[in-house]
Parts: sequence; structure tokens; C-alpha cells
Amino acid sequence: MTDIAEEVLAWLKPRAEEMEALLRRLVNIDSNSFDKAGTDAVADAVTEVLHADGIAVTRIPKTGFGDVLRAEVPGCESNSHALLLGHRDTVFKTGTVAQRGYSRAGDLAFGPGVADMKAGLVTNIFALRAIKAAGGLPFPVVALFTADEEIGSPTGRAEIEAAAKGARAVFNAEPGRVSGNVVTGRKGGASFHIKVTGRAAHSGVNHEAGASAIEALARKIVKLHALTDYRTGITTNVGVIKGGNTHNTVAPWAEAELDLRYVTLEQRAQMVAEIERIVHHDDVPGTSAEITPVATFLPLERRHSEALFGLYRDAAARAGFAVDGEFTGGCADSGFTAALGVPTLCGLGPIGGKAHTDEEFCRIDSLVPRTQALALALCSLPLR
Ligand SMILES: [Zn+2]
Repeated sequence: MTDIAEEVLAWLKPRAEEMEALLRRLVNIDSNSFDKAGTDAVADAVTEVLHADGIAVTRIPKTGFGDVLRAEVPGCESNSHALLLGHRDTVFKTGTVAQRGYSRAGDLAFGPGVADMKAGLVTNIFALRAIKAAGGLPFPVVALFTADEEIGSPTGRAEIEAAAKGARAVFNAEPGRVSGNVVTGRKGGASFHIKVTGRAAHSGVNHEAGASAIEALARKIVKLHALTDYRTGITTNVGVIKGGNTHNTVAPWAEAELDLRYVTLEQRAQMVAEIERIVHHDDVPGTSAEITPVATFLPLERRHSEALFGLYRDAAARAGFAVDGEFTGGCADSGFTAALGVPTLCGLGPIGGKAHTDEEFCRIDSLVPRTQALALALCSLPLR
């Protein structure tokens, strides 16, 4: 254990109240992915805290979604950087804070995005501050704060991929699992919009002249759902359907939203081809169908997280807790960096659960130790 690691550990030790105060402040800013003013207000707060410690923050302007922040604690030698990831957006609609802002009961904190991932932002900010206070590492530590992860990172992805190029490691502070574990594997996901066009006809007068878009879609859904294979980890789910005009009209249109999850990039290519084949198959003469990709997340394959996990487990032991790696079907930005072949570990934020619900919680007593473990893991990254 180096002197810097000791210093970082000691600097973080008495920060629990300060960390909670920042968590309260960040949770109490509504920041739905589509609320640019809100996610930018979170960016302002993050910038203010980092600037107070003299940490450089670059703001990359975005239209439509919140700006991207890039903070950096320079390295004292020129080596490739380490990258911290965090998203400022939540799934909760603007106005949620007024109804149920930050609250605390015992060791649990509540509020919109408290675990996913305002607490993770706090972790990244304090890890940067601790490393800055210790005079920096032999390599730069860069942190990105993006604003549209919950909708598939339409603007964040390019920034994340650019920042990950050449990185020695990527650490994503998505919530730690309820078990206390971190995430060593994630499914990839993709969502699609399917639109079927048919031909309208009076269902009593000239039924035979119609071509039912609803029937065509229904036949496709049965085949799409049959692609699910729990053994290989592939799932398909049509979660939304719409279509038709009246009960006595042969339906001229029907639409569906499809979600696909997979474990490896190889599966992704196979499944996308299979889905396209099913959608374009002529199920009902006179109908036609189109499919449009909506959002894509790439998988975090275990082979990209293994080495970092070993290092993190040692860091966690030093910070006073035991930890294991866990696989989850949920997607995150860490898949984008792992897919580039950059060593990536996820779920390093404070422990939390019930994300995306009104009961979402964060374990306040995990703020300091999780941040210590992240900072120590950074300190122990091998030089190359
Ligand atoms: Zn998240």
C-alpha cells in the first residue's frame, strides 16, 4: 500500500456528513433525462463542488439533452488515464422532488435517483477530491458526468467511447447491489419500434378486401417471444402494442415496442438478424412491416471485468468490507467501454436498491467505504 493510498483513505474517513449533504443537494434537483434544465442544474452543482477544490471541469454543450461534464485530476507522470463514469439523469418526471424529495430513516436515504445514481456521482466527486488532495496519481483520473443514460445515452455514448479510448481502466459508479456486491457482468440490450401497415376494410361489408395489421403483428409477436432462451440469457419482450381504429374495421395499422437482452456481442448480431427476418416475413398478404432501432446498450462481458475485480476486492478489504462480483440483466454505459476492450468494472457506487421505483433507497453507511474502495482501486492500478 503506497503513501498516497493511506492519504486517500484518511482524507475520506471523516467525510460521511459532507457526502450526505451533497447527496441531499443532488437528489433535490429534478433531473429527468428529457429535462435539460434539470440535468444542467445538477451539472452546475457538480462543477461548483469540483471547482472549490481546484479540479478542472470542461463542459461539452449538448442540445436537447443535458451537457456533458469532463473533470480531470492530472497525473504527475504521463501515463494513460483512468476513467470514472456517472450519469446525472434519472427516470423520474420533473416535479417528483416537490412530492418526495430527499429523506432519511436510519441508515437508509430515499428520494428520486438517490441510488441510481446521485450517490454514485457523490462517490466519483469525493474520489476525485481525495486523489487531488493527495497530490494526484502517476496517471490522470478523468470523470465524465453524462445526462441521458436512462434513455440509452443518445448523446453520452460518443463522449464515453471517446473518453474510454486508451484508458487503463473504467469504473462506473452505478449503484452497488443490495447484496453489497459490485457488477462484473451485464447484459446488453436493444429496443426497437415495429410498425405494421395493412389495408382497412369494413369488417361486415367487404372483410376480404382488408389486410389486418393487427393479425400480422400478433403472428410476429409469437415468433419474437419464442426467441427467448433462458439458458443462453437471451430474452425478448414486446412490452407495448397499439393498433387498429374500430372493432368493425380491419386494422390498417399496428405498432409494437420490442426489448431484446443478450449476454455477448456475438449473440447480438445473430438476434438482430433473426428479429429482422421475423418482422419482414410476409405473415398476412397485403401487409408490410418496418423495424427501427430505438436504443442500444452493449454487454459488459466478464472477461473485461475480471482483472479489475481482483484489484477492487483487495481495495474493498482495505476499506473494511468483503465484496463479490455479480451479473445483472440491467444495462449501463459500462457495456460501451467493455465492448471497446477496455477493462471495466461497474456497480461501484454506494449500495442501493429498488431503483426506478418510489421506494428507491441508498445505504448511507456505505457512502464512505465504497468511495474509499474506489479511490484505493484507482491507487493500485498497475502502471503500464
Ligand atoms: Zn443508472
